[in-house]
Amino acid sequence: LVRLRARLARSQNSLGKGLLTLLSREHLDEDTWEEIEDTLLTADVGVTPTQELVERLRERVRVLGTRTPQELRTLLREELLTLVGTDLDRTVHTESDLDTPGIVMVVGVNGTGKTTTTGKLARVLVADGKSVVLGAADTFRAAAADQLQTWGERVGARTVRGPEAGDPASVAYDAVKEGIAEGADVVLIDTAGRLHTKTGLMDELGKVKRVVEKHGPLDEILLVLDATTGQNGLVQARVFAEVVDITGIVLTKLDGTAKGGIVVAVQRELGVPVKLVGLGEGPDDLAPFEPEAFVDALIG
Ligand code: GDP
Repeated sequence: LVRLRARLARSQNSLGKGLLTLLSREHLDEDTWEEIEDTLLTADVGVTPTQELVERLRERVRVLGTRTPQELRTLLREELLTLVGTDLDRTVHTESDLDTPGIVMVVGVNGTGKTTTTGKLARVLVADGKSVVLGAADTFRAAAADQLQTWGERVGARTVRGPEAGDPASVAYDAVKEGIAEGADVVLIDTAGRLHTKTGLMDELGKVKRVVEKHGPLDEILLVLDATTGQNGLVQARVFAEVVDITGIVLTKLDGTAKGGIVVAVQRELGVPVKLVGLGEGPDDLAPFEPEAFVDALIG
């Protein structure tokens, strides 16, 4: 975790450094506040949250009168934490209330890191002593099932797959059936993320969900978003949220961008917490999203 924090810090703290530098100017004039806004907007924080943060910060700086760099840092940290949210339930629910495996469905546009995230999550669960079955319901992308199976072999989880271009819902159904038969703790279902038509996606994901729920309720529906895609990612998120009830967000590729502000924007957009972050392509590069660590990495 320390290693991940360091990596997150490297990619993120240009934003925080920038803010702190601006705040430490002799005169916090109108131009400076505008530059602070620009910095937040560049990091994809979003217009409304940016305005809110700057307004609160301005007011607090005004009331406080004197300000030392340390005081400013504390104020900035508090306001960023408020924005990110410290009291949201960020638990990834992998346990069923019933005597059956917990069922987690992973959705998102192709290329965002769905399969990788499913593999990494399996690794975390297996390391936690849980038995995991993987369902390769992304039957659209030819290599997806192979990729998932490779992850499964690597981390010690069995993969249930169907024929290429087969019915995703039937693979998902079989995976859960298999999980129940084996007495597995968790079934993770990787899905396809074609966005060419909303109705197509809606039909497919809706069907996967309905069919899986014949076995029992889904415990978690994770939406995987690529942090580097900015506003595009938000548009995608909205479409998926209309199709299925997202219960958590996984923000991938945070290692490759200083646009961590997307955390704030997407939580606002969907009203769903970011629960996990992807910080690289390797098996250990998935971390729980911790607001304090995130904000500290941000402001260095
Ligand atoms: P899918 O189509 O959504 O299933 O996407 P994949 O899981 O195949 O991932 C697409 C690419 O993104 C692959 O090259 C992954 O290794 C890479 N990737 C996934 N997550 C991360 C991450 O957190 N950081 C980085 N740098 N790359 C990632």
